[in-house]
Amino acid sequence: MSISAASENTIRSYGLIIAGEEEPGAETSTRSDPATGREVARFARASREDVERAIAEARRVFDEGDWPRWTGPRRSAALLRLADLMARDAERLARIETEEVGKPIRLARGDVAGSIAMARYAAAVAQTETGEVVDNVDADVVSMVVREPAGVIGMITPWNFPLLQLMQKLPYALAAGCTAVVKPAEVTAGTTVEVARLCKEAGIPAGVVNIVTGRGSVVGTALAESPDVDVLSFTGSTEVGAEITRASASTTKRLSMELGGKAAAIVLPDADLEQAATGIITGAMYNSGECCVATTRLLVHESVADELLAVLVEAFARVRVGDPKDESTDVGAMIHAGHLETVLGYVEDARARGLDIVFGGEALAEGPLADGYFVRPALIDGVDRRDPIFQEEIFGPVLAVTRFSTAEEAISLANDVDYGLANTVWSAGMQTALPVARAIRSGTVWVNTTLENAPQMPTGGLKRSGYGREMGRAGYEEFTEPKTITVRLAPAAPVFGVEQ
Ligand code: NAD
Repeated sequence: MSISAASENTIRSYGLIIAGEEEPGAETSTRSDPATGREVARFARASREDVERAIAEARRVFDEGDWPRWTGPRRSAALLRLADLMARDAERLARIETEEVGKPIRLARGDVAGSIAMARYAAAVAQTETGEVVDNVDADVVSMVVREPAGVIGMITPWNFPLLQLMQKLPYALAAGCTAVVKPAEVTAGTTVEVARLCKEAGIPAGVVNIVTGRGSVVGTALAESPDVDVLSFTGSTEVGAEITRASASTTKRLSMELGGKAAAIVLPDADLEQAATGIITGAMYNSGECCVATTRLLVHESVADELLAVLVEAFARVRVGDPKDESTDVGAMIHAGHLETVLGYVEDARARGLDIVFGGEALAEGPLADGYFVRPALIDGVDRRDPIFQEEIFGPVLAVTRFSTAEEAISLANDVDYGLANTVWSAGMQTALPVARAIRSGTVWVNTTLENAPQMPTGGLKRSGYGREMGRAGYEEFTEPKTITVRLAPAAPVFGVEQ
């Protein structure tokens, strides 16, 4: 199939990638830019039989091919070539993400840079990570703990960071020597197929990276139910994560679950309020609030609440909502009409319950925004811990404000949700901030910063945010199996048939 450019007037066409070949698929789906309504891409829709073929190919290449036995340095070189090719195509990848997701181009470029960094880090891991030796058990015994690739990895990713979520998994699995069958979200599959094409160009053997685009209920379920998938690495909603757990139960495959979040920013009384306000705006607006670690709850000490809110209202008013392709846009379009309705519904219900909508929360559909799904970011005060906007993942630019009077109350509020993905603490003193950070039950806590990630930092959740870790050494280890090979160097004394 031809590779078309990401530009104003082309419709990109993507097939399935199985055994290194791109095939059209019996059915297709179309994607329209959520900011303009213009059709931008067509994706193949895999059937269950297509998925089974892709899994069989990944299985064959893992079991019989030489990829899992490539040396670490050779896999490392391939990952570096992939990173270079992604850097060559960086602007194209960023534009595809902007068109398919509706995310501001500035942020899409950041996602691409972050994704390239993942490939480079994974290349370093492939080069340097080795097994270990256990030699302190017995003078005559030595154990080698060799790290073997875990096998065929199913990967299922969401629509909010299509490229970044893929790259938090794929290069780490490739560094380990695994093969992959990847199912991206149906509406934002473009960059996943682009990366698979680049893997081929980088010299990664056919059948190592297979892509099956299509419906979650067909493709995702087939991956979950397959006995030939060794590990299933899922990023998405808690509800679908639970469905996958049920569907995969009889196979006893290993699962990794990166699920929803409901992050809080805790502002202690000694915090630098200007710095906190900047961070809170970043956390709440990033990726138009369609972010699992978005700052969705502001827990603020009552002594500084009014002052901080005054700064935040001004900051909300300065946020530029609009065309994601415009370099100065801060908040782009919601992913689709149904999701815009959900976000607006949360605000309307909050208003009906008598909450104070301090700012925003309405649809924007004037002039150039008429054909897209835009919402003015909302700031809502006086939110009780039992309120749905305190408890539920909204996945849009909506910030709920709750006041507290002691650090213990702040910790209790932060932990009083089903999720445990990420939270932020703002405080000038480490002796104040760190006890709070340690008492919060989430996989990540930021102090005086937010949303800072790097390929070498593990990320993941607790509670209903899931389990398993991505990125860092822990992320690599998710795709490996330690095997213990124990050698006795001198004959052992007999245990049985010996007079005691
Ligand atoms: P989603 O759960 O609806 O879909 C995620 C993926 O699962 C998609 O590829 C979808 O097609 C597939 N899927 C749907 N039904 C399936 C089924 N029955 N079996 C198997 N696969 C199925 O999530 P979404 O709407 O694409 O993304 C938003 C969600 O993702 C939010 O809840 C967000 O918090 C979460 N998320 C989490 C992280 C994290 O790191 N923890 C990161 C990004 C997004």
